[in-house]
Amino acid sequence: MQKFDFDLFVIGAGSGGVRAARMAAAAGARVAIAEAARLGGTCVNLGCVPKKLMVYASEFGTAAEDAVGFGWTIAKPSFDWTTLMRNKDREITRLNGIYRNLLETPGVRIIEGWARLLDRNTVEVGGESFTADKILIATGGRPFKSNIPGNHLSITSNEMFHLDRQPRRIAIAGGGFIAVEFAGILRGMGSEVTLVYRGPLFLRGFDDDIRATLADEMRKRGIELRFDTLIERIEETPEGLAAATSHGDVLEVDQVLSAMGRLPNTGDLGLEEIGVVLDERGAVVVGEHLESSVSGIFALGDCIGHIALTPVALAEGMAFVETQFKNNPTAVDYTNTPSAVFSQPSVGTVGLTEAEARGAGMDVEIFRSTFRPMQHTLSGRDEKTMMKLVVDRGSDRVLGAHMVGPEAGEIIQGMAVAIKAGATKQIFDATVGIHPTAAEEFVTMREPLPDSAAKAAE
Ligand code: FAD
Ligand code: NDP
Repeated sequence: MQKFDFDLFVIGAGSGGVRAARMAAAAGARVAIAEAARLGGTCVNLGCVPKKLMVYASEFGTAAEDAVGFGWTIAKPSFDWTTLMRNKDREITRLNGIYRNLLETPGVRIIEGWARLLDRNTVEVGGESFTADKILIATGGRPFKSNIPGNHLSITSNEMFHLDRQPRRIAIAGGGFIAVEFAGILRGMGSEVTLVYRGPLFLRGFDDDIRATLADEMRKRGIELRFDTLIERIEETPEGLAAATSHGDVLEVDQVLSAMGRLPNTGDLGLEEIGVVLDERGAVVVGEHLESSVSGIFALGDCIGHIALTPVALAEGMAFVETQFKNNPTAVDYTNTPSAVFSQPSVGTVGLTEAEARGAGMDVEIFRSTFRPMQHTLSGRDEKTMMKLVVDRGSDRVLGAHMVGPEAGEIIQGMAVAIKAGATKQIFDATVGIHPTAAEEFVTMREPLPDSAAKAAE
């Protein structure tokens, strides 16, 4: 007779929870997973996947314009939101089925419903109790909304994926990943877009050259950027919504998208009642091996608030299983975690920004190249690609690679391998390029910016 119903009970079937559950089951553990919504979590249902499908959808309009210079005659393209939503929903339902298979094949029991902890070994779902030796909290996050008057009239990214109609005019509040990505998506589909951000330049924390280049390019595409501005109040009007800004003017729009960050999903779980320590944002506080303050209760992914990206949640899931079920203590190495912003043009980044390196007192050389992508020599589109390397002068190691331009995420993924491996600038220089590509620029930049040494001495 086993002491517990399961060796592992996972709460939340998102990126991290599914990975941990199925890998633990494959290693021989008896595993259950509870999910209150749809299998696959945020990334599959309300994040990466539907967002990327919408990015693709939004790029065909400009592609049709660009084709003219290459000899094509294309009738004025028109876009149908309902068709996209229907096709996107069909693909997501297919992925939900794949996630079910991924879990059921190694024998994970799926329990539908909201899970709560009753004690350190007992979880309750829909009135039924289950015991487990170990419990993993993988409950993800939810959008944060500021407390302005009329905030109930705004939507978040969750609702954006299920609107009946494309907003013809939209105000987007925030200057992070979601704000910038949806600005590009909706503009590409033909909406009038105003992005309102409280600081002087969006994407705080990214390299300053990325931020400035992307702002220029988004403006060229017709997105209105209002920096140092807040939306202070939202009201209904006969035509839609009126969003009053801190500068005293009013944006007349159909929707306001609130994209102001996300909070860990740790309420109504019974965590604090059994002594699990949360931080001031509600994230579960964990140690190196993802164990909470209560032994046997672990957490990973967005609910621990480290880096809120799917590949990070997956890496944490793998490290958890290696440590707890394969006798191979493993900690996630978060250094040089690459990321992409699927803006238009897109952003890819890995390693230190110039400001971070200089802020840490490092003596750096900066290599930067700004050029017109080859496809736009004939399309006539006024768009620039920017690539940048941050190099430690003493060791010659490449500390950071940053890019704004087509396929930046695809290109920076490869750069991330080189930087993780500790590549020097000399190795970049000795690498033969692939011609003609934009990516070859990363191995052909030879002259550091002249002011690098001067800046370093400041
Ligand atoms: P989640 O995937 O959020 O899964 C948590 C699951 O737990 C959910 O299904 C939830 O229903 C369930 N749950 C919560 N509480 C309970 C409970 N008490 N009982 C039962 N079930 C519960 N990341 C990228 O890397 N690339 C991208 O392009 C990208 N785009 C994004 C776009 C948007 C609009 C958003 C919002 C996020 C995006 N992300 C992206 C971030 C990524 O989606 C998250 O980092 C990732 O999903 C986190 O995985 P997780 O396992 O921690 O949680
Ligand atoms: P971010 O943390 O990226 O950005 C939040 C933005 O909201 C910031 O510009 C922030 O400003 C602003 N903000 C926060 N609070 C307020 C406030 N009270 N009033 C006005 N502005 C405010 O969050 P997102 O919601 O864009 O995305 C959540 C996370 O999801 C991301 O951080 C990322 O980890 C993940 N994600 C990843 C994607 C990808 O990989 N491509 C895509 C989408 C999401 P300030 O900078 O001044 O603090």
